[in-house]
Amino acid sequence: MSARILVVDDILPNVKLLEAKLKNEYYEVFTATNGEDALRIAEEQRPDLLLLDVMMPGMDGYEVCRRLKENKDLAHIPVVMVTALTDSEDKVRGLEVGADDFLSKPINDVALMARVRSLVRLKMTMDEWRVRESAASQLGIGDEGATVMNEQDKGGRVLLIEDQEFESNKIRETLEADHELVRTVTSGPQGIDLLGQLVFDVIILSLNLGAEDGLRLLSYFKSSEKTRHLPVILIGRDEDMQKISHGLEFGAHDYIIRPVDRNELQARVRTQLRKKRFQERLRSSYEISLSMALTDGLTGLYNRRYLEVHLEKLIKKNKEDNKALAVILMDIDHFKSVNDTYGHGVGDEVLKVFAERLKSKLRSIDTVARYGGEEFVVILPDVSVERAYRVAERLRMSIANDPFKCSAPGGLLKVTSSFGGAIIGAEEENVLKALERADKCLYEAKEGGRNCVYFEGKGRLDPAEIALLAGGVDPADASENA
Ligand code: GH3
Ligand code: MG
Ligand code: MG
Repeated sequence: MSARILVVDDILPNVKLLEAKLKNEYYEVFTATNGEDALRIAEEQRPDLLLLDVMMPGMDGYEVCRRLKENKDLAHIPVVMVTALTDSEDKVRGLEVGADDFLSKPINDVALMARVRSLVRLKMTMDEWRVRESAASQLGIGDEGATVMNEQDKGGRVLLIEDQEFESNKIRETLEADHELVRTVTSGPQGIDLLGQLVFDVIILSLNLGAEDGLRLLSYFKSSEKTRHLPVILIGRDEDMQKISHGLEFGAHDYIIRPVDRNELQARVRTQLRKKRFQERLRSSYEISLSMALTDGLTGLYNRRYLEVHLEKLIKKNKEDNKALAVILMDIDHFKSVNDTYGHGVGDEVLKVFAERLKSKLRSIDTVARYGGEEFVVILPDVSVERAYRVAERLRMSIANDPFKCSAPGGLLKVTSSFGGAIIGAEEENVLKALERADKCLYEAKEGGRNCVYFEGKGRLDPAEIALLAGGVDPADASENA
């Protein structure tokens, strides 16, 4: 996996050393020797990772990190602080300004490469969601200014898998103050069991579990649907570095070295919570945007864009299966006069009721969409001619026979609609042509006096004749909520 890394250190030999190590692993490397340059290059190059020296004259590493994380366009770039200090206070300070990890000088190569690979991989996932989320922002959903640093980092649900009682008590006590739930188990099977019963945000996993292999457990979590997205923080000893490095490869998000420092633990758990919540936010605004892009805001029905794409797929399937579908177009009669007489608000209410009626008369496999202002489309897949006629006639009656509840004077309004239908067989290849065929019939229905159904090749449906047809119930009707 290639990635672009910005190395920042005020001492040139340090920069050169890191640059050489990273280039050796085929990373593309940029360098800076002070904070200002670092921020400028980050802005220009948008690297995938920053390796950032803490102690620099002028703007120090904390300040660089803080500014980076404040900038909406740069906040998602992971930062690893490189420090000569091993004091946990410095680590905590760094984590609090948004650093993702610490490496102490002299840098351990295994730790460095494990970290770089895992952070770059996590960033790729995040980038994917950010791209989707930016589509959401264009639609006005989601919060343009949202960055990972704005996320709530307390109130999480933590599962701790640790069999050393002293350590486990210490971790639980430390986390309980800030978090909603901290549950401790002493083995993998117990952990899996509990994960099946409760919802967690973070798993903390010991790599020193008696006879159990923590890495095996980790790879189970990462492969199981339910836990795959949960951040896992590993706990290990200094000499477990090789194992930790594998763990990061398998998808662990972070690690902490024994003896566990309380403040560092708190900061690392908070960081994971922030990231998880940020990613969830991106995902949910993406999902909202997707549904907004495909549905009509007023009626909740599918919109024209969706309808056309969907119909194209159905037509293809028609061809493969040698089946037929029906396209039924409808247009409310004299709708303009509803608006003109009672106002646009009542017009909107009528559209909503209209949509509800259609939905309630169709099966879930039928598609109903708002095609334009007061025009709707219904598609009945895999349908017989008789059934198509029956459904169209039933829809017409369901509109015409029951006045619409709305805020017009008297609370009820008589509404009718005209219908045009066509049976689309395996011969038709073109979506727009299929819709045009139904539209021609709709035009005939309007010309023919409205509140009626015209079908291609059949002309005006006679309600009495269709009612007789309805006498022979076909199996598909059994499941219809007519
Ligand atoms: P016809 O029977 O020939 O279909 O007559 P009509 O009045 O229904 O047809 P026309 O196309 O002349 O008018 C449609 C009206 O629908 C005009 C437009 O203002 C109104 N309209 C379109 N979209 C909306 C909407 O979302 N809300 C409301 N209230 N009115 C809408
Ligand atoms: Mg109309
Ligand atoms: Mg119209």
